[in-house]
This record gives sequence, C-alpha cells and structure tokens, in this order.
Amino acid sequence: MNFKEIIRVIPDFPQPGISFKDITTLLNNGEAYRQAIDELKALVAHLKIDIIAGPEARGFVVGAPLAYALGVGFVPIRKSGKLPYETIEVGYDLEYGKDKLAVHTDAIKPGQNVLIADDLLATGGTIATSVSLIEQLGGKVVGAAFLIELVELAGRNKLTDIEVISLLNYE
Ligand code: AMP
Repeated sequence: MNFKEIIRVIPDFPQPGISFKDITTLLNNGEAYRQAIDELKALVAHLKIDIIAGPEARGFVVGAPLAYALGVGFVPIRKSGKLPYETIEVGYDLEYGKDKLAVHTDAIKPGQNVLIADDLLATGGTIATSVSLIEQLGGKVVGAAFLIELVELAGRNKLTDIEVISLLNYE
C-alpha cells in the first residue's frame, strides 16, 4: 500500500516553513490504518517489549493499537496538568513551540522494557523527553517506533542509545 499517497501534506502549517504531515487521512482509511499498524508491528517484532508508551495526542493513535496488537499495556505520556495521579515532569522544545510532558509515577515498573511510539519523528525533542521520563521511573527504552521520520531534521541523532524504527521516510 502506498501510504504516502494517503497521508495528506499541508504546507506552512501551523506556521510558515513547516510541511505538516496530516495522518488524519490515514486514520480515516480503515484498511490503511490497520495495515500501517500491522507493518509497524512486524518492524518491532524482534524487540522484547513489556509495555508501550506514547506521547499525546498522536502517540496514542499509534501506540495504543500497537500495544493491543502485541498484547502489552499502554502508558499515556501527557502534557503537564492532565494526569490525575502523582506525576513526574520534564520540559522540552518542539519543532514549533515549547512544552512539558508528564507521566504517572507508577506507570512503569523498574526494569520494564519500554517501546515508545509516536506518529512522527521530527527533531526528536518529544521522544528524548519521553526517554528521560521513562528512565527516571527505572524503565529501559528498547526502541522508538514511528509512522513517519523527517530525515532532514536528524531526530535519530538525538536518540543514539535506542533503536529508531520508522515506516516512512520524508526528506
Ligand atoms: P519532535 O519533538 O520535533 O520530534 O516533534 C515530534 C512531534 O511533533 C510529533 O509528535 C508530531 O506529532 C509533531 N510534528 C512535528 N513536526 C511535524 C510535521 N512536520 N508534521 C506533522 N507533525 C509534526
């Protein structure tokens, strides 16, 4: 299946110079969505994964179905102030903007092998922050899986200690 024909690209969103990869057109297509998750599942099959963590919001639509397919749990990584129980937080920079991510302190048990999932790897800031949260809880990040990698932004250079897996590369 040609996923690139299905994913919509919006120039200059949300600000000039950003070529936004709009995965809502993939999510809208049941066959394509399922195949994308199945292909990602095959790409991570060699990893030992106890649990998947995904940053809000698009990390949920990739991470949760992948967790379901693998029969493991899912940990939501959320923006500051959204999670109801005790959290730890780490601040980070985005390709556009700044934010803080949080996770429940009991979401990951020390020693668990964690796969991080998100829709897209840009600068890698979101994932580096997620790695820091997981490691603070004693988890071991075994890999990070994406539908899309923006190769020119070289996000994988920020993630040298973990295996970076992506279904689609964009220049
Ligand atoms: P980064 O922290 O720079 O790797 O940014 C990753 C997050 O920002 C991803 O979770 C994406 O949802 C979003 N993002 C960044 N750049 C784009 C883009 N060009 N198109 C779509 N989403 C993007």
